[in-house]
Amino acid sequence: MAYLRFKAVEEAGKRQPIFPERPSNKVSDYFGETCFDVSSMKETLSPDVYKKVKYYIDNGKKIDSDTADAVAAAVKSWAISQGITHYTHWFQPLTGATAEKHDSFFSATDKIEKFKGTALVQQEPDASSFPSGGIRQTFEARGYTAWDPSSPMFRWGATLCIPTIFVSYTGEALDYKAPLLKALEAVDKAATSVCKYFDRNVSKVNASLGCEQEYFLVDKALFNARPDLVMAGRTVFGHAPARGQQLDDHYFGSIPQRIYAYMQDFEIECHKLGIPVTTRHNEVAPSQFEVAPLFEEVNVATDHNMLMMDVMRRVANRHNLMALFHEKPFAQINGTGKHNNWSLITDTGVNLFQPSSSARENLQFLTFFVNTIKAVYSYSEMLRASIASAGNDFRLGANEAPPAIISVFIGSQLSEVLDELANNGNIKIEKGDNMYMKLGIDKIPEIILDNTDRNRTSPFAFTGNKFEFRAVGGSANVGLPMTVLNTVMAKQLNDFKEEVDELINSGKEKRLAIVEILRKYIKESKDVRFEGDGYSDDWVKEAEKKGLPNIKDTPEALDAFLSEKSTSVFGLYNIMTERELEARNEILWENYIMKVQIESRVMGDLALNHIIPTAIKYQNKLIENANGLQGLGLENKAALKVIDKVSGHIDAVKSGVMDMIEERKRINKIEDVREKAIEYCHNVKHKFFDKIRYHVDKLELYVDDEDWPLVKYREMLFIK
Ligand code: ADP
Ligand code: MG
Repeated sequence: MAYLRFKAVEEAGKRQPIFPERPSNKVSDYFGETCFDVSSMKETLSPDVYKKVKYYIDNGKKIDSDTADAVAAAVKSWAISQGITHYTHWFQPLTGATAEKHDSFFSATDKIEKFKGTALVQQEPDASSFPSGGIRQTFEARGYTAWDPSSPMFRWGATLCIPTIFVSYTGEALDYKAPLLKALEAVDKAATSVCKYFDRNVSKVNASLGCEQEYFLVDKALFNARPDLVMAGRTVFGHAPARGQQLDDHYFGSIPQRIYAYMQDFEIECHKLGIPVTTRHNEVAPSQFEVAPLFEEVNVATDHNMLMMDVMRRVANRHNLMALFHEKPFAQINGTGKHNNWSLITDTGVNLFQPSSSARENLQFLTFFVNTIKAVYSYSEMLRASIASAGNDFRLGANEAPPAIISVFIGSQLSEVLDELANNGNIKIEKGDNMYMKLGIDKIPEIILDNTDRNRTSPFAFTGNKFEFRAVGGSANVGLPMTVLNTVMAKQLNDFKEEVDELINSGKEKRLAIVEILRKYIKESKDVRFEGDGYSDDWVKEAEKKGLPNIKDTPEALDAFLSEKSTSVFGLYNIMTERELEARNEILWENYIMKVQIESRVMGDLALNHIIPTAIKYQNKLIENANGLQGLGLENKAALKVIDKVSGHIDAVKSGVMDMIEERKRINKIEDVREKAIEYCHNVKHKFFDKIRYHVDKLELYVDDEDWPLVKYREMLFIK
């Protein structure tokens, strides 16, 4: 009897919403209450010290020890007033999760609470168990974490979390954050120098990020009754429910009470931490939802996204729910993405992707706009690699999802503007001419993208005043795609500056020089622009003709990081050395292997221990029935036919699993990680996963519902 399944279904059906108690009627009363950020420093430090800290933060400089001591003292008294007893450096190792190791403020030797600047600035966690891709040999198995003052510290439970970077003893980055900070610095410098063509007052450009985060919620009891969800974060079996997302009634529909209570609860926690979550709604698939914060500077937004996912998981527990961020927890149901809304904003307050009514500013807008398209075109393989993961492979390039082709959507209005500019030939500008008018860029209407002009199938779309990198996976640490995007943008802008300066030096008027290079870029990068349905087969064919890469699987996609283009661009800004890139790839391949291996094992275990025994029991019932009919001298052809079908599926599952295990054994002997990852991809995943699943899902349709051991899709997705 499928005891566990029915018990779980019963439990889930009885749940009630658990509404949280609001700390106050106004969010502004508690927003940021449990974080210690720059404004807290301003309040608690002496003006001199604060000025220094602010300078260090704004200029990415190392903080001196006296200042660090002063900040530590201020943080300590804030922490103690909050009831905090411990502190930890909070970092983002390449495992994909966040890590922490708590130390007590209380010093047992001195019998007082202590916190020195040195402890704030640097810590040495035992790093040997974090992935390092062979960078750290065992004899130098030490890494250290270093405080990132640009990201707010925060309280979690009774612990003070200090955002840090994580580097090896020899200086190589072992996390997502260290390269990100360097990439942001590179794009700041490059964009600032291009801005000077238009406005001498710009001295800094901040990259901004707003992550729209999709997620699924499943009742905890139902989740626990699915070993595949528990072990792999996604279901490896499960027949599609009679009703999937065809009705489209869930999207923006009213939020079920229990979920609503959960959302309120985690939003309160987020607000206390200073995470500016603002929107919430149902997503397309049943039991799928979305949350989005207000955009922030990329580094802070990245930390906040990691923290928010953590908060969401922990708060879900209180509501007997599980928050799933896996890119494809359920086959044939929409996957989970994390739309990265990205823009560049100057310290004078101008969003460089905001079309404007002033012609001069429009040339600036076009400059950044066209350079972005060019960057995506020139470095699309690196962008593809930046979002590659075992989970995201089920989304990108799989049957019911966007392809792994990186293209850019800009909408019809801007397409026209660009085409006109490109085709305008070498217009002669006479003295007294309105050059902007002659070029057709005097007016670019404010781009108001309504929902019809909003291409939901594009992996990289312009949405009015920002680009939206949509192909990022739901569970990803956005540090990696943001590192790549900002790095290639920096390179692109520097190349642009060089080319324009060359023309200027040869006597060309500045604005004409800019336009000439932009025109060249528009033509060169035209193929990456795509306005149609990115999910269609036609696009896959068309893209192939255009020579756009379509790299379907992670192991091969990762090669782009080791290409000449990648090592040189990362090297150029000291973001990552070739050795670091190699080490990272090793970790990412390793990670991929582990994921596929786990899924394959779960699949095997479930098939052998749950599915086949259940199916055989059912088969025996059928045989009894067929014999009974025959004994009575009745027709039993139909019964025999079903027995034949069921037996066929049972055999196929059994032999599929056995063959898959043999393949794993063979592949596990391979030493080279890249080769092993490729083998796992093609000879385990592609060769067996769908095939085994097909037969298991068929059996689900035949076997008596009373006996089926796994919680069904309809139960997981529709019971709230
Ligand atoms: P939509 O995708 O429907 O336009 P929103 O306008 O709410 O949705 O924006 C989605 C996300 O984009 C939010 O996190 C929002 O803060 C962020 N966003 C808005 N403007 C910018 C910008 N200039 N730069 C970066 N992110 C932005
Ligand atoms: Mg959006």
